[in-house]
Amino acid sequence: MNNSKISSLEFDKIKLIYIFTSIGSVVLLVIAFLNFLDGDVDMALFETLIAAGGILNAILLKLTKNVRIAENFILIGMLLLICGIFVDGGYRNTGIYWIYTFPLLSFFLKGNKGGILWNIAFFVMAVSLVILDSTGYTTVAYSTDEIRQALIAYVIIMLLAYIFEEALLRSYNEVSRLAVTDQLTGLSNRYYIFSRLEEEIERAKRFDKNLCVILFDIDDFKQINDRYGHDVGDMVLSEFSRILKNSTRNVDTVGRLGGEEFIVICPGTDIVGGKITAEKIRMAAESAYMPEIGKITVSAGVAEFTGTENVAELVKNADVALYRAKKSGKNRVELYSPSGNIVRFGIDLQNLSLKKPASAGRH
Ligand code: GH3
Ligand code: MG
Ligand code: MG
Repeated sequence: MNNSKISSLEFDKIKLIYIFTSIGSVVLLVIAFLNFLDGDVDMALFETLIAAGGILNAILLKLTKNVRIAENFILIGMLLLICGIFVDGGYRNTGIYWIYTFPLLSFFLKGNKGGILWNIAFFVMAVSLVILDSTGYTTVAYSTDEIRQALIAYVIIMLLAYIFEEALLRSYNEVSRLAVTDQLTGLSNRYYIFSRLEEEIERAKRFDKNLCVILFDIDDFKQINDRYGHDVGDMVLSEFSRILKNSTRNVDTVGRLGGEEFIVICPGTDIVGGKITAEKIRMAAESAYMPEIGKITVSAGVAEFTGTENVAELVKNADVALYRAKKSGKNRVELYSPSGNIVRFGIDLQNLSLKKPASAGRH
């Protein structure tokens, strides 16, 4: 894993910051030139400095990839620019329109909480300038009426920007949640499980930690569907999901791979822990009362990460063990081992059972 990896959202933000700073700086340089031609040399110089700051900011962002600093510099630059325009008027006293870029920009860059703080900063600055103007300390280029109207429009735009940002954030969060969630059971979906497992494998490698995956498959599920109907089948899936969640730890990830197949990723767990966890879940499923159908059983396959497997291989290994559990009578847990039984601490783990499965060896 690479900690300096930038999320795709941040990457888009970086691109947008580049676009904004480059277009903004060029426009500002043009305006500075027009001001210069108009004889407003002070303003021309001030705007050139801000534009240079913008370009410098883009270069700094390119070098450091530090988005936070770039965002803050952009907003400071905009505040300074708007301050200058309030006092000077900008090109032929039309500069006041620049203030409307600020709420949109600040909410986009800083989100809603940070955006509000920056907008408060803007307001304090604008009102201070008006107060200083009334005391004669400085001269503001616009009449009090103009500034009042501009600020009222500003507040409306700010509120709209806030609402849009909030709506965007909420729908983004909801879409993100749906993208990783299985609709029926509320567990993690296949897509999320595979990316999560990839992360856990990387972590296990880097920190030399144990890692186990357990695959579960509900026994004779087709019969349940056929006999009691699809709705009852769905209810069984939800009920077993609840058992899975209740029988696992917070650090474990529980997901539905599809149909009546489930997976539990157990970080920091070796094959002994995996076996115990799988048995616990198998027994919980066996003893749970299922409305309408009475009881179900599940089979499980456990595979341990040995340092070399990738995601597909690790899941495949657990699937091999699961297949063996089905073949040898169902309602049981099998461990994956490329070379026969797994013996640890002198105990044959394969045949270690917390409780003999009902179908094992009696008939
Ligand atoms: P085994 O004990 O060997 O696992 O047999 P099985 O009947 O459980 O396995 P099989 O793979 O033959 O059947 C799985 C069934 O799961 C078939 C399919 O109709 C059903 N199924 C898949 N997805 C859903 C779902 O979302 N809801 C319901 N109710 N059934 C589903
Ligand atoms: Mg099944
Ligand atoms: Mg199946």
